[in-house]
Amino acid sequence: MSYGWPVKPFDEQHPVRGFFCDPRIGAKGSKAFHFGIDVSAPDGTAVYAVAGGTVHFEGAQNVGVVTGGGRSHGYWHIVPRVRHRQKVRKHALLGHIARGWGHVHFADRIEDEYWNPLRAGALTPFRDFGAPVVDRIVAERRGRIVEPGALTGVVNLIAVAHDNPPISAPPPWRGLPVTPALVRWRLVRGGRAVIPWRVAADFRSALRTEFRFHEIYAGGTRQNHPNARGRYRFWLARAWDTRRHRDGRYRLDVEAADIRGNATRGHLELVLRNGDV
Ligand SMILES: [Zn+2]
Repeated sequence: MSYGWPVKPFDEQHPVRGFFCDPRIGAKGSKAFHFGIDVSAPDGTAVYAVAGGTVHFEGAQNVGVVTGGGRSHGYWHIVPRVRHRQKVRKHALLGHIARGWGHVHFADRIEDEYWNPLRAGALTPFRDFGAPVVDRIVAERRGRIVEPGALTGVVNLIAVAHDNPPISAPPPWRGLPVTPALVRWRLVRGGRAVIPWRVAADFRSALRTEFRFHEIYAGGTRQNHPNARGRYRFWLARAWDTRRHRDGRYRLDVEAADIRGNATRGHLELVLRNGDV
């Protein structure tokens, strides 16, 4: 069941400065997946229900609307104009963006799971232009980059990738990256995939309970801050034993895609040199 935007105009795309499952890293080191999207709008902007239902507060400035069928929408960081348990209709005024936030955090929940509001058939319209960027692919050992032209033993494989929101938010969030919706990799030798596509991160549908931050985002991952770019380092393979493959030349392909399937690939040439016979 698709729905419009929580700010006016409802039927036009707005800037989104935080994507679903972006890393959220607290000042004290807490790490979590961003469980909604951040729709950029000035403080004081009116926020409306995308669907009718019953108001259920999730915090003093966090309004939920339970729409039935186990579904609810979250509208966070707003000064509420509704009461707990109040029935609201579609497009009812819920409140205004609280001072200092510059966005409404919008979440789409079904039963116990948060879903990507930008998936097809949900928040509409949302067009995505341009593919994500694979910034870098590295082999590391104990956090240090190792020469891919002479790999031995056990290494970690990591890709740095990002996407750019189709409509940029204003400063201080202008031009800051968001996470791709899908990151996957494969290992190719002589035109044949010796390791077929493996998913490193898949944020296209739900934030699954089995997702573990430290198993998807590698150390050195940073979230966006005002005028400071985040950096998204994805685990491809942890403790990958190069001795399980024959010595020789390989190509590591990394693909990053957005929620609409716009995809781009990066490559890293690898040479395994374990001295096998
Ligand atoms: Zn948010």
